[in-house]
Amino acid sequence: MSKPRLEGKVVLITGAASGIGEEAAKLFAENGALVVVADIQDEIGQQVVASIGLDKASYYHCDVRDEKQVEEAVAYTLLKHGTLDILFSNAGVIGPLSTVLDLDLAHLDNTFAINVRGVAATIKHAGRAMVSRKIRGSIICTASVSGSIAGVGPMTYTASKHAVVGLVKAASSELGAHGIRVNCISPFGVATPLACNTYNMEPSQLEQSCATITSLKGIVLKASHVAQTALFFASDESAFINGHNLVLDGGFTVSSHNPA
Ligand code: NAD
Repeated sequence: MSKPRLEGKVVLITGAASGIGEEAAKLFAENGALVVVADIQDEIGQQVVASIGLDKASYYHCDVRDEKQVEEAVAYTLLKHGTLDILFSNAGVIGPLSTVLDLDLAHLDNTFAINVRGVAATIKHAGRAMVSRKIRGSIICTASVSGSIAGVGPMTYTASKHAVVGLVKAASSELGAHGIRVNCISPFGVATPLACNTYNMEPSQLEQSCATITSLKGIVLKASHVAQTALFFASDESAFINGHNLVLDGGFTVSSHNPA
């Protein structure tokens, strides 16, 4: 029997109480990792941990807007497991559906505080832990198709996800010198609470609506597809991939027929 892909690896996942992060926490644990589930939704975060098993997962409250909490989540992981091999910096929000002309700058600040400052803080503190312990780790961030093109989300979200792609490029260049890989994943629409609540749709409605605009017919993007991609970046199968933005969009962004 082959060895589990993440056997003995220690993983910290932000935004792991729901959606893509939850799927990744379960999948990483199934593949042999010890997982720290970090989120602000404590009750459902603890339910995720219980469903994985207390021998493989634990919960830590971490609001990524607060650098101190991020630093403490990294410290908790190191104290509990002695190492940190993989960071999946995934927590994010879309924010209100405002346009450029009715932009509320407070909304922009909040979206950037989570999607950009939060990701930067996690890369900084996980990166420091890895560098100081000479861990050749993997850092994975969740961006979005809105990190490559406009027109599929509000302006604030689009700007924040472009910034995530930029953070990943800059960090991969610097941390690559220490053998640490930094990559990001850019999904198209996935029927998670984030997307369904923003667009006020049932999961099936959102999937139906997304399915009509990608060029790849008959397949709907699920949180599990994104988690599988994160597993690839976390494992040695992607050992020479650094600074990459993997767009999971069924061909949407390369098609001249997309309505964006
Ligand atoms: P989700 O709402 O299911 O999960 C997001 C999680 O992030 C939640 O558990 C939430 O509590 C947590 N979170 C929010 N603010 C936080 C904070 N300040 N600190 C810590 N945790 C916080 O949504 P999802 O779709 O799984 O989103 C995960 C990531 O995927 C986000 O970065 C999102 O932008 C990105 N994404 C989602 C889609 C989509 O269509 N669902 C598409 C592209 C990218």
